[in-house]
Amino acid sequence: TKKHILVLFGGASSEHEVSLMSAASVLRAMDRSRYEVLAAGITPEGLFELYEDQAGINTNHWEGFPYRRFVHDPRRPRLLFSPGDGGVYLQNEGRVQPLTVDVIFPVLHGPFGEDGRLQGLLEMCGIPYVGAGVLSSAVAMDKGIAKRLFHQAGIPQTPHVEIRLDPRQPAIHEAVNMVESRLDYPVFVKPANLGSSVGISKAVSRDELENALRLAAAYDPKVLVEQAVDAREIECAVLGSRNPVVSVPAEVLPSHDFYDYEDKYFSGTSQTQVPANLTREMTERVQQMALQVYQLLECEGLARVDLFLERNTDRLLVNEINTMPGFTHISLYPKMCEASGIPYSQLIHRLIEDALEKESAVA
Ligand code: ADP
Ligand code: MG
Ligand code: MG
Repeated sequence: TKKHILVLFGGASSEHEVSLMSAASVLRAMDRSRYEVLAAGITPEGLFELYEDQAGINTNHWEGFPYRRFVHDPRRPRLLFSPGDGGVYLQNEGRVQPLTVDVIFPVLHGPFGEDGRLQGLLEMCGIPYVGAGVLSSAVAMDKGIAKRLFHQAGIPQTPHVEIRLDPRQPAIHEAVNMVESRLDYPVFVKPANLGSSVGISKAVSRDELENALRLAAAYDPKVLVEQAVDAREIECAVLGSRNPVVSVPAEVLPSHDFYDYEDKYFSGTSQTQVPANLTREMTERVQQMALQVYQLLECEGLARVDLFLERNTDRLLVNEINTMPGFTHISLYPKMCEASGIPYSQLIHRLIEDALEKESAVA
């Protein structure tokens, strides 16, 4: 019998639109002869609504620019989660009925979907899901905590400071003084919990730093300021839970000042190179570090590990790990897997199998 796979997309994070683009690609690539595919959108306010069943998913309009949001529609059946009794229900015109779901594939980026909160809900409901568990998701999403663990494990990274800013009354001047006493310009300023470069800016002066701190704090009161590195950006895909495999590395060649939101998804002017042009020795070092980072955070399912290769020193630094990396047609995670012999639809299949295997290991 066919497995019932529920794909989740959208969500209450600033990466809502990115998720729609990722989910469009995932839904299109899913093998319908093998799976019953269900798709549910999470509205920006957090409602789970059944979008379409396998009959008529039309996700073409989700791709590329201009992008969209998944908006609340009271006529759509709502998903209800019920911890302790096996699951997920559909509420339709006042009636509630159980929904058969074998695996949930949360194609969600950023807070709520990628940071362990959704994973906790699914664990409570006993529904297997694709990707990292509660702890790994949460730690990977919080760049500050992840960096503390990288440091403790002796994995090289750029110097940085963590700052907590009161969103209503941010003590910007104190923060600027603190940063200036610890780091040199240029610096990168980031919300601690986010992705897709949302809220990130580069600052070369006190003025720019002030603005950058305000912007980042609008997304997350916890802000990270990092010493900018002069480096090549190298990424690596990791796939699997018990015996994870590492892909060939890729390189990002940003067209803007850095790899920003626009560049990642819309302008299409940034270039990527898969595989990255690296020596065999460097390729191995990259793969080793990617696997080390993945295992340090006890990741499962998949993750993309992003590294910096310093231009002058050839030093390899860890930048971050993403437990639900972009899955659009121009995204690097699928491209790296493809270049390593795992085509897109095969990748989806492996992720679903991985989720089911983990489940049977627990049972
Ligand atoms: P996100 O989770 O939003 O992708 P990143 O930490 O990867 O956040 O930062 C986004 C981009 O900003 C990176 O891909 C890189 O281009 C640039 N960047 C981030 N930190 C630094 C840094 N310390 N030095 C140089 N560039 C950086
Ligand atoms: Mg990220
Ligand atoms: Mg990144």
